[in-house]
Amino acid sequence: MLGLMQDWPLTVDKILDHAKNWHPQREVVTRSVEGPIVRSTYGEIHGRAKRVSNVLKSWDVKVGDRVATLAWNTGRHIEAWYGIMGIGAVCHTLNPRLFPEQLIYIINHAEDRIIFVDLTFVPLLEAILPHCPTVERVVVMTDQWNMPATKLPRAECYEQLLEESSEDVEWGGFEEQTACGLCYTSGTTGNPKGVLYSHRSNFLHTLVTLQATIMGATPDEVILPVVPMFHANAWGIAFSGPAAGSKLVMPGAQMDGASIYELLESEKVTFSAAVPTVWQGLLAYMRENSLKLSTVKKVLIGGSAVPESLIRAFNDEFGVEVFQGWGMTETSPVGTLSRLTPELSALPYDEQMKWRIKQGMPPLGVELKLKNYAGQEMPHDGKTYGRLMVRGPTIAGGYFKDEGGKILDNEGFFDTGDVSTIDSYGFMQITDRAKDVIKSGGEWISSIDIENISVGHPKVELAAVIGAAHPKWDERPVLVIKLKPGETENKQEHLDFLQGKIAKWWMPDDVVFVDDIPLGATGKIDKKLVRERMKDYVLP
Ligand code: ADP
Repeated sequence: MLGLMQDWPLTVDKILDHAKNWHPQREVVTRSVEGPIVRSTYGEIHGRAKRVSNVLKSWDVKVGDRVATLAWNTGRHIEAWYGIMGIGAVCHTLNPRLFPEQLIYIINHAEDRIIFVDLTFVPLLEAILPHCPTVERVVVMTDQWNMPATKLPRAECYEQLLEESSEDVEWGGFEEQTACGLCYTSGTTGNPKGVLYSHRSNFLHTLVTLQATIMGATPDEVILPVVPMFHANAWGIAFSGPAAGSKLVMPGAQMDGASIYELLESEKVTFSAAVPTVWQGLLAYMRENSLKLSTVKKVLIGGSAVPESLIRAFNDEFGVEVFQGWGMTETSPVGTLSRLTPELSALPYDEQMKWRIKQGMPPLGVELKLKNYAGQEMPHDGKTYGRLMVRGPTIAGGYFKDEGGKILDNEGFFDTGDVSTIDSYGFMQITDRAKDVIKSGGEWISSIDIENISVGHPKVELAAVIGAAHPKWDERPVLVIKLKPGETENKQEHLDFLQGKIAKWWMPDDVVFVDDIPLGATGKIDKKLVRERMKDYVLP
């Protein structure tokens, strides 16, 4: 027997409708790409998003057509998102930090018809567009006064199009399983693969993020998503912000410590989210200028492991609580969050640290398990490593155009490619990406653990640990360090710093100082490139 409740398709246009109906005056503040701070409201954003829909309809964009954005976090980008998704077209967020060849590959693979582009990326698009035959038009997200003289064929001015368009358009009317967003993983191995979100998965992910143990936004929250909308949907904030009626502060193109600090203070931000490297930059800026944070209560840090030194710095120096999130493009992206349970919160702060540095527990809607290479399930004892597997309605079931073939195991779990442990409190900890694990004498060494401790040394800016070939042990860890400006090299000092904090046999066999540790397209250390640069290295 079926239930008798209403059939109300879970489509994301209803999120912005809700914001317009119940929080029409709540602000969306943007540091515009042109420079000035621009203020808007959910009411205005809703009307302008509808105009975007009408512009697209006038170009015969239909349900399922791919429309791309190459843009920063701004109010206009939110309008474009909902304008595209509202009529059932698929919003393909392009990551401008990808190599031009990768961008060409994904634009062609997605068969994007239209691209919305920020002024910053017009030169980039001019260079790659001749290689993208499916793109019919480009919309430059600016006004008539700032419209550049561009070589782009069929370039349109966003504000002019909106001015000439009407708000009169119906959203929705399609099935909730309809494709809604497309985001390619940065492809650390092979070509990037497209994760194709549905309206239903994005709607459910919004409800997941609204759980109090995840982000739990409310109308009195002021949220600054530094994490870009092109990096796994700004971790869902462009949906959960309007869903909760929270004020949004969009940082535009400026993500340096000074610019972020200015917005945090002037807009009275209470909550912000970014990858660790952004927070390191903000910390350095605040320390240099003896600044404090007056309204920020909590920050969500994720995308790569969060060092203990970062959690302590925010807590001890700025009174801000850090939550660590784990997830990936394939998980929409929220997978777990490190919010402590009452048992763990009751511990003294120093003891809590053992759990604060873990990636935490899944919300309702995400299932986790650990498997070994033979496919057996591993115990949750906090010690046994396994491949982290996930299942749920917000987890990818396959890649766009079936790239990569079948990606789920027989029980429908997706292999994340991460190696982790789960302890008896249910706290998951990532020890490595499977391909970064260092195999020494048949045992695994966690490069992440060593990196996170090393970066706590006051002279270290970035640290990466890679495996170097060893005749007896197979591989041994080598610590690669980029020092802070003006610091001097001293290998022993860094080894001494690790002493007692890691198992003896994890101790790196060597420390190598480099001028630069490369970051990838989503602001994380690019281990593949670090390994490539060290390919001629031999252990002493
Ligand atoms: P990309 O590889 O393109 O950056 P994602 O942003 O989807 O793609 O990256 C997902 C991966 O990032 C995860 O599989 C995991 O290895 C890593 N990751 C994400 N959050 C954390 C975290 N809090 N701690 C450790 N690793 C993390």
